[in-house]
Amino acid sequence: MGFKASVLTLYPEMFPGFLGYSMAGRALENGIWSLEAIQIRDFANDRHHSVDDTPAGGGAGMVMKPDVLARAIDSVDNQYPRLLMSPRGRPFNQKMAHDLKDRGGVTLVCGRFEGIDERVIEARNLIEVSIGDYILSGGEGAALVVLDSIVRLLPGVMGNSQSGEQESFEAGLLEYPQYTRPQIFEGRAIPDVLTSGNHQAIEKWRKDRSEEITRSRRPDLYAIYEKNNRKA
Ligand code: SAH
Repeated sequence: MGFKASVLTLYPEMFPGFLGYSMAGRALENGIWSLEAIQIRDFANDRHHSVDDTPAGGGAGMVMKPDVLARAIDSVDNQYPRLLMSPRGRPFNQKMAHDLKDRGGVTLVCGRFEGIDERVIEARNLIEVSIGDYILSGGEGAALVVLDSIVRLLPGVMGNSQSGEQESFEAGLLEYPQYTRPQIFEGRAIPDVLTSGNHQAIEKWRKDRSEEITRSRRPDLYAIYEKNNRKA
């Protein structure tokens, strides 16, 4: 059985979105993963199908109602982790993508408006996850980002499964520079070592570049890498 993704949203038509294309799209057709997008509004029970209301204590915007959302969440009957897309959440990263892949499925809740009532976060044990320090207008884009990072890790999704292990973050380092033909582009040549055929030299060059780029661009990641690789 494939990886099972359930998404709770006010815009189910936004799914699978870009995940319907390319490798993820083929894997979806082949049943390597499945996606159900659930309309939260279907769980509203008043005449106007309201899903939001004004914030207690006043202020701008609207807040998603806890009762409607709780019923929508309860309609998803499985044991998979439940994530709430939220700018207050734990920063999403590659390790979390791997962990979720290993769980076999995930439920993603997409907020809209000013966010959702705090009590449903507590009552349904929603794990708040952020995709970065900026504000989106809804959780749908974030949910697609999270799913993309998980789906490409599933066995059989990536053409060359080798390429997964050499990418940025997998070794705690950013990726080295990549080149392809033509040999000369606007006067710039591909570094000689890459066309030398000397595989050991190529590997060393790539590792050196990875370390250099990580050190200068992401000292935070480099500090962790150094700590993990320090010889006793
Ligand atoms: N008033 C909130 C922002 C609400 S944005 C605040 O200031 O924190 C509306 C919805 O977009 C959120 O409920 C969440 O689901 C989604 N969202 C916005 N930014 C996000 C981010 N960086 N990561 C994940 N989801 C985000």
